[in-house]
Amino acid sequence: MSIESMLVEKRRKGPAMWRGARGQCPACGEKTMFAKYLKVSETCGSCKLNLGGHQADDAPPYFTIFIVGHIIVPVALIVERAYMPPLYVHALIFGILSIVVSLISLPIVKGAVVGLQWALELHGFAPEAALDEKEDS
Ligand SMILES: [Zn+2]
Repeated sequence: MSIESMLVEKRRKGPAMWRGARGQCPACGEKTMFAKYLKVSETCGSCKLNLGGHQADDAPPYFTIFIVGHIIVPVALIVERAYMPPLYVHALIFGILSIVVSLISLPIVKGAVVGLQWALELHGFAPEAALDEKEDS
């Protein structure tokens, strides 16, 4: 898929976020979003989309905290009502569970945010940015 054909197509938000959440390039769907755990690749190895223009910044941690809080707090309250364990058991179980759920959620949320930025043509994903880059090379 060439950059020109991607520019003509309307970028759909849902599929782009879904692809990003699975670590795939939002444009072509190849699994090239991340170079490392949370490090977004500079370019897609398949379609050469410049992924380095994303500006996810603090959005992924914000959404991750929101998601983890809405999972862990109700579970902790249910466990407290059902079993009334000592506080150190709560701290141990839900402290570790919070860290694990955060580490699992972060790349998923970050990929979805980058996919959404691509679909909305924000920051480095604007069509003119892609054309400027293509002319430079
Ligand atoms: Zn790609």
